[in-house]
Amino acid sequence: MQQPPRLVVDALSRSFGGRRVVEDVSLTIAPGQVTCLLGPSGCGKSTTLRMIAGVETADQGRVVIDGDTVVGPGVHVPPEARGIGLMFQDFALFPHLSVARNVGFGLKGDAQARQARVDELLEKVNLAGYGQKHPHELSGGEQQRVALARALAPRPRLMLMDEPFSGLDNRLRDGIRDSTLEVLKAEGAAVLLVTHEPDEALRMADEIALMRDGRIVQRGAPYNLYNSPTDRAAAAFFSDINVIEGVSRGALTETPFGRFLTPGHADGAKVEIVIRPQHLKIDFDRAGRGPHPTELEGTPARGTVLRARFLGRESLVEFAMDFQGARLTAAVPGVFLPKPGTVLWLMIRRDRCFVFAA
Ligand code: ADP
Ligand code: MG
Repeated sequence: MQQPPRLVVDALSRSFGGRRVVEDVSLTIAPGQVTCLLGPSGCGKSTTLRMIAGVETADQGRVVIDGDTVVGPGVHVPPEARGIGLMFQDFALFPHLSVARNVGFGLKGDAQARQARVDELLEKVNLAGYGQKHPHELSGGEQQRVALARALAPRPRLMLMDEPFSGLDNRLRDGIRDSTLEVLKAEGAAVLLVTHEPDEALRMADEIALMRDGRIVQRGAPYNLYNSPTDRAAAAFFSDINVIEGVSRGALTETPFGRFLTPGHADGAKVEIVIRPQHLKIDFDRAGRGPHPTELEGTPARGTVLRARFLGRESLVEFAMDFQGARLTAAVPGVFLPKPGTVLWLMIRRDRCFVFAA
């Protein structure tokens, strides 16, 4: 049997000065599940999280934590009575308290039980033996772990995290993300994590809720958002994209890369075929030998190299195509740096294309 959700957000809205910044946002999070609220800066993520935390009021909608309505018509339970753990970008540790006292801050019960829980968490975040230090003696990554331990210590029903990694050194961030996720999973916490970084959401989330202009535009598993974006902007949020324009005729769209099935688009409707750079392939086998239509790969199209750059894992090659004045970018694994002016044939992975109304 499925467990009841730990968090239900239902049609939450908030305006500031007559401007809707959060509109009709709904979400559910199961126990033990990490949901990332992902979207560009200013789209309303923090306001949503703050309403769930209770530090911001809602104009409309409901928030239910573990079956208790904490936001609803005539209901506003104060933040400290919601059973939540909070973590923000600035870890907001108490500078005058030791690490152990920071972690134990929200704990109730007898001293021995509190001490045991503090020790357990310091162990979990790999800071056993740090209890007597003070925050200023710790690195940024260590302070982050203390903040995580402090938020988790009282066993919150829900963890709310707002860009908790953005203050950290870029080079350390992936490691800290992974160890944080390990601790959250070991604690079985239900988590709402706000981020503007798609890589972070892909790396950490069981489910991503993609937000734009105050609304959730798509929800699902990370691979669903990446592989089946709901619109062009959702596709573009996760990577650079290439766009090929066409017109649907009889549920088909002819392009220089061959025909695409475009059911659901009216006759004469403009469509955009969107493909990520890594799914645009250079046809090395047949370079220069002309088109060879196949079912999966369609027809190769000719392009002239404008620029090629090596980025470490892959090379990015930009092409001027022979059609539509189009410029397309291919990501090729490893080192591939053809000279500008080189003519190559490109194919697209038809199964990796997205078709949207233009
Ligand atoms: P995000 O966290 O996605 O970057 P926010 O939720 O912080 O976005 O903000 C969404 C919008 O609401 C922004 O345009 C921001 O300026 C505005 N906003 C947030 N809080 C307030 C406030 N207290 N008063 C007025 N405007 C606000
Ligand atoms: Mg924010």
